[in-house]
Amino acid sequence: MNRSPMEILPDTAEGHARAAQLLRGGGLVAFPTETVYGLGADACNDRAVARIFDAKGRPSFNPLIAHFAERDAVKRHVIWSDEAEALANAYWPGPLTMVLRKRADSPISKLVTAGLDTLAVRVPAHPTAKAVLAGFGGPVAAPSANRSGQISPTRASHVTSGLGDRVDAVINAGVCAVGIESTIIGLVEHPILLRPGGVTKDQLMQTLGAAIAVRKNAEAISAPGQLGSHYAPNAAVRLNATEWRAGELRLGFGDVACDLNLSEDEDLVEAAAHLFDHLHRLDARGGTVIAVSPIPHHGLGVAINDRLTRAAAPRD
Ligand code: AMP
Ligand code: MG
Repeated sequence: MNRSPMEILPDTAEGHARAAQLLRGGGLVAFPTETVYGLGADACNDRAVARIFDAKGRPSFNPLIAHFAERDAVKRHVIWSDEAEALANAYWPGPLTMVLRKRADSPISKLVTAGLDTLAVRVPAHPTAKAVLAGFGGPVAAPSANRSGQISPTRASHVTSGLGDRVDAVINAGVCAVGIESTIIGLVEHPILLRPGGVTKDQLMQTLGAAIAVRKNAEAISAPGQLGSHYAPNAAVRLNATEWRAGELRLGFGDVACDLNLSEDEDLVEAAAHLFDHLHRLDARGGTVIAVSPIPHHGLGVAINDRLTRAAAPRD
């Protein structure tokens, strides 16, 4: 876990290059987008993404938006469509996020998608965000750069006061113009407005020439427990397993004999980084029960336990 002093980077070519270098090394870098300051990490690096949740102190793993420098890079990670093309022509770069089916060969971390087979993608317009994304050359997962439950940051000083040395660097690039979050439209089945934002529903309907459904409780989508489509394994899940029973798939934590270990060293960032991948891999073995070692209920353990508790809840 990083605890060295946060670097304040200038909004210059050198600052952007340093930001890209930190991202390549698995670091956390806060940078401005046209909406708010985002807390960015390499979206293909499980551990870097786990550090986002740790830094924000999020009590749950909601899926994150992957940010890209340009549209062709997006197409390597999602199944593109005519609707996506029309919306990208009209609103990218800009404050519109599209949720599309993830391509099976995309190396995006399962922690970014919360284990779902869909991915939220956006190409931001802010020149600093564009420069960092282009310099890094890959997708960057970036929720707002604030502690969970606190106000979204619209200037670099909000990031330093809120997150301090939990992040490696912030680019000091003045005030964000929009301050409103990106609009999120789901395009996996029929178009559905998942979150209102800068681009309006009427604009989207005009572009698509079609009706757009509205998610009933759009405000609640990011609240813990509200995302109905959350990944659940096929196997039943048994929590706080201090001994293993015959036939169980064993998901361990710490110094235990098991099938897959979230973290032998009891490192919660490592455990979070492995969580979805290990659940998927054990589930793919086709057993009926996945038993999980107790996970300490502090730091990232709170979000891990939230996810496991929902995986263990009775199914409809
Ligand atoms: P934020 O990072 O704070 O802008 O929030 C990201 C929003 O995107 C949250 O409301 C997520 O629930 C939503 N989101 C991200 N990925 C997906 C997805 N695959 N399906 C549905 N919603 C998503
Ligand atoms: Mg936020």
